[in-house]
Amino acid sequence: MNNIFAIPAFSDNYIWCVHDTKHAVVVDPGDAKPVIKTLKEKQLTLTSILITHHHHDHTGGIEELVSAYPGVKVYGPKNPLIEGIDLRLSEGESLSLSNPELDLNVLETPGHTMDHIVFYNNELMFCGDTLFSAGCGRMFEGTPEVFYHSLQKLTHLPEQTKVYCTHEYTLANLAFAMHVDPENTALQDYQSWANKQRASDQITLPSSIAEQKKINPFLRCTNKSIKQNIENIMNLSADSEVDVFAALRSCKDNF
Ligand code: ZN
Ligand code: FE
Repeated sequence: MNNIFAIPAFSDNYIWCVHDTKHAVVVDPGDAKPVIKTLKEKQLTLTSILITHHHHDHTGGIEELVSAYPGVKVYGPKNPLIEGIDLRLSEGESLSLSNPELDLNVLETPGHTMDHIVFYNNELMFCGDTLFSAGCGRMFEGTPEVFYHSLQKLTHLPEQTKVYCTHEYTLANLAFAMHVDPENTALQDYQSWANKQRASDQITLPSSIAEQKKINPFLRCTNKSIKQNIENIMNLSADSEVDVFAALRSCKDNF
C-alpha cells in the first residue's frame, strides 16, 4: 500500500509524491528544490516522474531531478516540445511501475492545453490542471467542446476515485461556484469545510469524483438553476451543456 502526500511549490502548486517508504514517484515537479529537500528528509529515492502537460510550473524541475537521481524515468504526453520525457503516452495506454508499485492508465484531456493527459487507476487520478476542486483549468488552448468532453470523461470514472489536482485554488473556485450555484447545500457545506481547512493551513485535496459532481459547476452544466443563473449573469441564452460550460468558463475568467 502506497502513501501519498503533497510537496508544496511556488505559491499554490502541489507536487504529489507517491511512495512505499523507500522509493518515490512525483507528479508535475515544476520546481526540483522542494522535491529534493523533502525526499532527503524522508530518505526516499526518486524513481519516476509523471508529467500531465507542458506548462513550466509542471515541468521546470525535470532536468535537475534527473541529474540528482540518475536512472529516474520520466513519463508524459506526446508533445515533443516537452524536453526530457522518456516515454510519451496517449489515451488508452497504461503504465506499470514497480518501485513503488503503481499501475496507472492514461486519458487524454485536452482543454487547458491540447497536450494534457490524466493518470488514473481504480483509486485515484492525477489530473494536473484539467480539474480542480470546485473548478477547472483556464482554457488556454482548447475549445469549450473539447474541454467539456475531457471533463465528462473524468466524471465517468468510479465515484470513489480520489482527485489529486496540481493547485490549491479551492477557495477562489468556491467563491465563483457560489456565484452561479448559491442554493446548493452540498456546496455551502463544502465551502465551510474548505474555509476551516485553509484557516488552519491545511490543504483541501484530494477530493473525489462523487464530491466534485455535487459541488463543481463545470461538472454540473445540466443543472437547471446553474444554467439559468449563468444566462442571467452573462445575458445570453445557453442552448446546450457546452454553451453553459463556455459561459461559465468565460465568466470565471473575469470573476
Ligand atoms: Zn497549466
Ligand atoms: Fe499549473
